[in-house]
Amino acid sequence: MASILSAAHFHNEEAAYEFVEARIWPRGPVCPHCGVIDNARRLQGKSTRIGVYKCRDCRAPFTVKIGTIFEASHIPMNVWLQAIFLVASSKKGVSSNQLHRMLGVSLKSAWFMSHRIREAMQSDDFALFGDSGGVVEVDETFIGRDKTIKPDGEKRGRGFHHKNKVLSLVDRNSGQARSFVVDDVKASTLIPIVLDNLSREAKLMTDENVSYVRVGRRFAAHGVVHHKRGEYVAKNAPELHTNTIEGFFSIFKRGMKGVYQHCAHNHLHRYLAEFDFRYNNRKALGVEDSERAEKLLKGVVGRRLTYQTIAD
Ligand SMILES: [Zn+2]
Repeated sequence: MASILSAAHFHNEEAAYEFVEARIWPRGPVCPHCGVIDNARRLQGKSTRIGVYKCRDCRAPFTVKIGTIFEASHIPMNVWLQAIFLVASSKKGVSSNQLHRMLGVSLKSAWFMSHRIREAMQSDDFALFGDSGGVVEVDETFIGRDKTIKPDGEKRGRGFHHKNKVLSLVDRNSGQARSFVVDDVKASTLIPIVLDNLSREAKLMTDENVSYVRVGRRFAAHGVVHHKRGEYVAKNAPELHTNTIEGFFSIFKRGMKGVYQHCAHNHLHRYLAEFDFRYNNRKALGVEDSERAEKLLKGVVGRRLTYQTIAD
């Protein structure tokens, strides 16, 4: 079996453009200026940049990079594809430092590429979890320090007031996760997210957090796992557990602590999009590395992120 990394689109910029064009323009080149499909001529010749087309309708030149995360980037397309593949296939993520060393781009470029790739992993699937009566596990976790919060006198390392807070939902039937950065774990913050994302037919599954008691009545059922009592999977109710979401949190935390180490509060939602994406397209659901990378690549359209947006 040949190494995946020996594929031409990882080494040859022209092949890389063709690879991207075939996936973003399945019906032929799309002119971003006038919108016409498959009526453009590929410009050739030594002085022409790779991947430039000229529209036969409006006469304007364009490339597949316009309107994507690649726009205004000088990184060769094959290096972008290497970065996308690495991020898509590394369960705990890849640090900017690692990309910088492996791909031979500056640390600043690597950091920018990572953020743009994360943007492409943002899901636009808003389907309700737990339809047809499926179980949806809901739980919060705390990660790193939220430096936007002033310490309120609690001893360092104790409590979670000063930490970043994350709410995740995992649909046990589809195996999909959806995560949110939240300001606190009060019922008034958590309930609207739960109501927006879960079907009323769902069986809600939470721990003993009192925030869920009231909202639990709005669903077909509400199972409560009493971790404090040492109850993990009850013998007489094997459905009653939150092990799925704890498995998801464990990958997220190992990645955030082991790979990314620091994460500013205002970037956390992008890291969550990354961990949700890989989890939702994992091998256990039949998605292999190459397919996951291609799926990520399809997400680059319309996600252009400017420096201004992420540098603040
Ligand atoms: Zn045109």
